[in-house]
Parts: sequence; structure tokens; C-alpha cells
Amino acid sequence: MEKLTIVIPAYNEEEVLASSVASLLTIEDQVVAAYTLATDSDILIVDDGSSDKTWSLIDQLHRQNSRVRGLRFSRNFGHQQALIAGLTEAVKTADLMVTIDADLQDDPDKIMAMVEQYANGIDIVYGVRNNRDTDTWFKRTTAGAFYGLLKHLGVDLIPNHADFRLMSRRSVETFLSYHERNIFIRGLVPKLGYPSASVYYKRTPRMAGESKYPLKKMLAFAWDGITSLTIAPVRLILILGVLATMLAVIMLIYTVSVKVLGLAEHGWSSLMVSVWFLGGLQMISLGVIGEYIGKVTTEVRHRPRYTIQNKLQ
Ligand code: UDP
Ligand code: MG
Repeated sequence: MEKLTIVIPAYNEEEVLASSVASLLTIEDQVVAAYTLATDSDILIVDDGSSDKTWSLIDQLHRQNSRVRGLRFSRNFGHQQALIAGLTEAVKTADLMVTIDADLQDDPDKIMAMVEQYANGIDIVYGVRNNRDTDTWFKRTTAGAFYGLLKHLGVDLIPNHADFRLMSRRSVETFLSYHERNIFIRGLVPKLGYPSASVYYKRTPRMAGESKYPLKKMLAFAWDGITSLTIAPVRLILILGVLATMLAVIMLIYTVSVKVLGLAEHGWSSLMVSVWFLGGLQMISLGVIGEYIGKVTTEVRHRPRYTIQNKLQ
């Protein structure tokens, strides 16, 4: 019989974890019964270096029910790394895995529909939200712009899909063989190419606690997404460089003509503008190139993605 593992990344989720795990256990029981999955199907929570009571809560849940397992990072490594650690551990025993946020903003009742697709031979089932009205105006607009940009750059993303997803064992194994350190999971999974489907749901507000994605983390996440999936920023620099050079040629012709015509009473403002403009352009270019070199350095170092401090199983 096939085993299902539900993987949950959790960072300071003491307010929601107990009730989320209770709902997920109930739902998992229903799914196991409906599709005759293994009765030891379980839940694996990855504590991403929480500073609140998340870990002791996981410990307590584990002692109440051995179907709840836990991994604990030694510090906060981030949502994506927590998902990777969870999948790496889960795939050792599970045949199918579902990843879902600890706050259950993504409708857990849809796991049943996901498993139905899996039973039909689909490897990857994306949870896709059909509303964004629980997001702030700011998040809606910035997320829209970001995904629009990535799409424009040729990155194959599933619109309105975050990390609520079912994956078969072989798709997880293939995914884990992508060894890059800077990883943007939702951009990589569609690249695997396995049969996939979507399940639609309505995203609800967080039941308690606050978002663990402040603006700073969101920006870093977006930037990682762009730079780990495309080299568009470097191309943009090239184009800007070409444009600036063309502009410089025009400036040269202009300057020489003015000089030749004896109308040389000019210069200060245009000089200032070009110096600042080109200076700025160069700084930005160096910054972007530096970012890629930084990423290359990180990849070459090949450091582990995370440190696991405790394990409950
Ligand atoms: N999360 C994590 N590490 C982090 C930030 C978030 O593991 O550094 C987890 C968090 O506990 C939750 C999920 O990632 O299970 C999504 O975070 P959140 O719900 O705060 O994001 P939002 O829904 O506001 O985008
Ligand atoms: Mg959330």
C-alpha cells in the first residue's frame, strides 16, 4: 500500500500548529480510507529554527501520536530549505507527498482531490488559488508584477500556485537531484516535465499569528527567483551598455559640432548629467554582476543547505 506524507514547514507557528495538525490528521485519515493508502501515512513538520514553542509543541504532538514526526533546523534557513529538508526525509519512506503551509491558508480539504489525480497517474498536482482577496492590495500588486515579469522572461510558472502541492516519489527524487543551493522550488518543479494537473481552491486568511514573510523576506525571495531562474538582468545590462554607448557616440558628434561651430559655451549641465547617469548605470551593472558571481560562489562552495539539529520519528 502506498504511503502519504504531509510535509509542513513551520517557523514560529505555536499559535496555529496544534489545530493545523489535528485537522490534517483527520483529513489524512479520510484520504487513507478513500484511496486505501498505508495506515502509517504521516505528517512531517520541519521546524525552521523557530524561537517560540514550536519545537516543544511538535515534540508533544509526536508523543501523543507517532504519526506526527519532526525535523528541527539549528537556525532559520528559510521556507524553501525547510520544504527541501522535509521532502528529502519524507521520500525515504513515502510514495506520495503533499506540502502545505502550517497556517492552513491553503485549503487542506483539497488534498483529497489531489490524491484523486495522483490515483489517475498524475505525478504533480498544483494547488492553485482562484482568489487573491485575502491578500493586501500591496501584496497582490507586487506579486502580480513579479509573476508577470518572470513569465515575460520565459520562466514557466503556474500562476497563483505557491507551495501547496502533491508530488509523487519519482518527481521528488528528480527534483532533489537538482543540486543548486539557491533554489526557487515553484519555478523548478514545472521544469521536471512529469504529468501534472491543478486543483483549485479558495485561500483563506491566516487563522492566527502573523505572516512569516515580511517585506524583506519577500523581496529576497523574488530576487532569488529572478536570479536563480534567468540571466535576464545581465542581458539587460548588456542592452543598457549598448544604448549608453550609442548615446555617447551621439554626444560625441554633438560636442564636436558645437566646438567646430564655435558655440562652445555649454557643458556643465550635460556633463554632470552624463557623469551621474553613467556612474549610476555602472554601479547597478556591477551590482547585478556581483550578485551572479555571489551565486556562483555559493554554488561552488557546495555547502550543505541546512543543519538538522533534532529529529523525531
Ligand atoms: N516559513 C518557514 N520559514 C520562514 C518563513 C516562513 O518555514 O523563514 C513557513 C511558515 O511557517 C508557513 C509557510 O512558510 O508554514 C508560509 O509562511 P506564511 O504563512 O507566513 O507566508 P504568507 O502566507 O504570509 O505568504
Ligand atoms: Mg500563510
